[in-house]
Amino acid sequence: MSLSFHYAGSPAHIVFGEGASQEVANWIAKIGCRRALVLSTPQQKTDAQALATKIGPLAVGVFSGAVMHTPVDVTETAMKLVGESGADCVVSLGGGSTTGLGKAIAYRTNLPQIVIPTTYAGSEVTPILGQTEGGRKTTVKDAKILPEVVIYDATLTTGLPVGLSVTSGLNAMAHAVEALYAQDRNPISTLMAVEGLRAFRAALPEIIATPSDLTARAGGLYGAWLCGTVLGAVGMALHHKICHTLGGTFDTPHAETHAIMLPHTAAFNAVAVPELLQPVAEIFGEPVGGGLWDFAKSIGAPRALRDLGLTEVDLDKASQIAVENPYWNPRPIDRQSIRALLQQAWEGRRPE
Ligand code: NAD
Repeated sequence: MSLSFHYAGSPAHIVFGEGASQEVANWIAKIGCRRALVLSTPQQKTDAQALATKIGPLAVGVFSGAVMHTPVDVTETAMKLVGESGADCVVSLGGGSTTGLGKAIAYRTNLPQIVIPTTYAGSEVTPILGQTEGGRKTTVKDAKILPEVVIYDATLTTGLPVGLSVTSGLNAMAHAVEALYAQDRNPISTLMAVEGLRAFRAALPEIIATPSDLTARAGGLYGAWLCGTVLGAVGMALHHKICHTLGGTFDTPHAETHAIMLPHTAAFNAVAVPELLQPVAEIFGEPVGGGLWDFAKSIGAPRALRDLGLTEVDLDKASQIAVENPYWNPRPIDRQSIRALLQQAWEGRRPE
């Protein structure tokens, strides 16, 4: 066998366990900190306050203003509190929006981060930060952005609504599917991607059936860790380009957009790299796009872009933007083929 690849293992501490978030004060001390600022969205404020109480004297405050897409003005407000409180680390409790705020603070201050993820977005294990200012989203990649400690505690995720669990899971799966054909993939990223897909194949139907099932919830977090790790490790392609275009230009919701697009982008690329996507066919059924679409339908996922408020005129604009400065993709793209792909996703048709 001829092997040639580059693999960089993540230096982050990854902690799994029911009730593991109870140990957060110990982790604050272990990383040499004494003044933690707890972050959350407004919706998770009560949980963040309860966490700060649990942390006790090592917590110096709670900032519950995190919102989607990390607007710079919100970060600046939080930065004031960082300064006033003398915080020496942040504890982010929540999904990608809260993790994004913690990363934005770390990017500016180099403060260590402890993240307790409560969705499956996977941002907690990537060195990537997307920020918005004046309606424009920019992305930076920097070692400072990668959180130092991630605590996956299923007991904190039983309240994640079923609909969000489904779209968030499919969002994570999209990272893994694209990692399978990434130009810079390596044997470890492929192992993690396949294991992540298997984890969600098993966990999502169980989560819908019994949202309080801790074993299923832990399976979702396990999938989130694996899929997020490959998102941070290898390059993404057409699927992420289209989702960033739709989210950035038409403000479509992040996880739903990924959930709807995944079967279509996978079907499109399966034509070029069927052997690389064979694990997806084995886990979800043949053909690759149809199998993913059937799975998404079986778990009640949204399947049509038109349900997100997009019009057919928007699809013309989106296909134009998606082919400008394209990401590398295993199958060549042109405006016409992307327009057809978007039409299929807009109508919610099963890809062949
Ligand atoms: P989110 O963090 O916005 O969460 C969605 C909503 O669900 C919020 O109101 C949140 O408070 C609530 N919520 C989260 N967990 C909950 C729980 N367990 N119980 C009840 N409510 C809960 O959504 P998301 O999809 O996790 O994150 C999306 C954001 O993350 C986007 O801005 C996206 O760009 C970013 N993201 C970044 C990366 C990266 O690597 N930089 C990766 C993935 C996502």
